[in-house]
Amino acid sequence: MEREQIYYISTRGHGGELTASRAILSGLAPDGGLYVPSRVPRLDFSMREAAELDYRELAYRVLRLYLTDFTEDELRDAVNGAYDSKFDTEEIVSLREAAGAHYLELYHGKTIAFKDMALSILPHLLTVSARKNGVDDEIVILTATSGDTGKAALAGFADVPGTRIIVFYPKDGVSRVQELQMLTERGGNTAVVGVRGNFDDAQNGVKTMFADRELGARMNAAGFRFSSANSINIGRLVPQIVYYVYAYSRMLRRGIVKDGEFINIAVPTGNFGNILAAHYAGLMGVPVGKLICASNDNRVLTDFFETGVYDRRRPFYTTSSPSMDILISSNLERLIYELTGGRADENNAYMQALSTEGKYALGGGEREMLAGFYGGSAREAEVAEEISRLWKEAGYVIDTHTAVASRVCRKYRDLTGDGTPTVIASTASPYKFARSVMTAIDEKYGEMGDFELIDELCALSGVPIPPAISEIRTAAIRHTRVTDKGGMKAAVEDILGL
Ligand SMILES: *Cc1c(COP(=O)(O)O)cnc(C)c1O
Repeated sequence: MEREQIYYISTRGHGGELTASRAILSGLAPDGGLYVPSRVPRLDFSMREAAELDYRELAYRVLRLYLTDFTEDELRDAVNGAYDSKFDTEEIVSLREAAGAHYLELYHGKTIAFKDMALSILPHLLTVSARKNGVDDEIVILTATSGDTGKAALAGFADVPGTRIIVFYPKDGVSRVQELQMLTERGGNTAVVGVRGNFDDAQNGVKTMFADRELGARMNAAGFRFSSANSINIGRLVPQIVYYVYAYSRMLRRGIVKDGEFINIAVPTGNFGNILAAHYAGLMGVPVGKLICASNDNRVLTDFFETGVYDRRRPFYTTSSPSMDILISSNLERLIYELTGGRADENNAYMQALSTEGKYALGGGEREMLAGFYGGSAREAEVAEEISRLWKEAGYVIDTHTAVASRVCRKYRDLTGDGTPTVIASTASPYKFARSVMTAIDEKYGEMGDFELIDELCALSGVPIPPAISEIRTAAIRHTRVTDKGGMKAAVEDILGL
């Protein structure tokens, strides 16, 4: 079937229309905006058809609607190279029913977090994009991570010819397992830097470097160009839409919904990338009812959906769900832009206010358009209770991030009586957060060492210890660089020899 071309434009309004491959290469737009498709394509197949397709075929069918300057072969190669035996289940994504809810397990990839869903395909999309556009500079991926993106990006880009990757993470803001996963990375083109600060500091540092023209000029002279593996890259967002289409198709196949009936989707949210992908799936024609945006104690998004005011001036909490410890949700800008009806100047004004005053308030009409979302938050004690409850009721162990969504989902049901079947995005393996998970189930585990806890979790859940965990038990630490947030640029210059 003929594809209608889709172009990508910046939410800040400058730079015109780009092909998908150009937008993927750039990552962030030069004007500081995020790329969005000039229009969201409609699915050109039915959910009944989708129910017959496997993950790879479905991924191809969705990606081709967005990445319209990629050939069929390029897309099929990328999909087949990404969703292969690196995943520990043939299905790639599993939908598990437990205690009346449906958990979409997105963590069966190499680094056992949902970030693998996009980051195992992004290197393929990026190298094809470089080739298509005659770019022969070495691509330098700069990434800020709240814990899971870092290792997933390192694993995706490790030893990919023509690329280098530098990851910044908050030194004291990630779990021990997350940190060890990154520090033991062996890829010869990889660097990992601890930042004395939080995720927002690391993310701001990276955004500043992207916008630094003087640095960019010196990079170009040395044969490098920056790109991003953060969820600001459209090449990450698009592959994430696939699994929501897939989720609906499996709900249909299992008879949980009839064709056309709505599902709700609950997503543990940090940077607003994952839930935005669910929103896009809805815009494409998947019957999506409410999108339940779940936060931990850093409930800036909960307040936003309640009041229409985004206010980041508040204390930052370090929680047991560190990948959601975020006060500036970058991808929200894509939604704001959509709410303004694509008026970049209005979006600009909001983003300007956010950076200078630390807040913005939506106008009335725009607020009404948020009705498709429900924002809720779960406190630390509630998260622990949720893990324990699900274990007791169903013998099913979930990680802390998933537990935030699971808890908020129940709050939403209690509050509204909405009984629509709900898919809960399960974003990480409980092995990745074994300490928090096990102590939620029984305080006695608090005494044990990290790896002892992993053995206990295995005994308790009967789920085999994933290679991602067994590998780090013995692997040598290879990255030791730590910097203040002011030293991030100097670290990059040093790593690249500029
Ligand atoms: C990154 C991450 C999230 C948050 O996803 P966003 O796309 O940033 O909203 C939630 N859970 C886990 C385990 C993650 O790694």
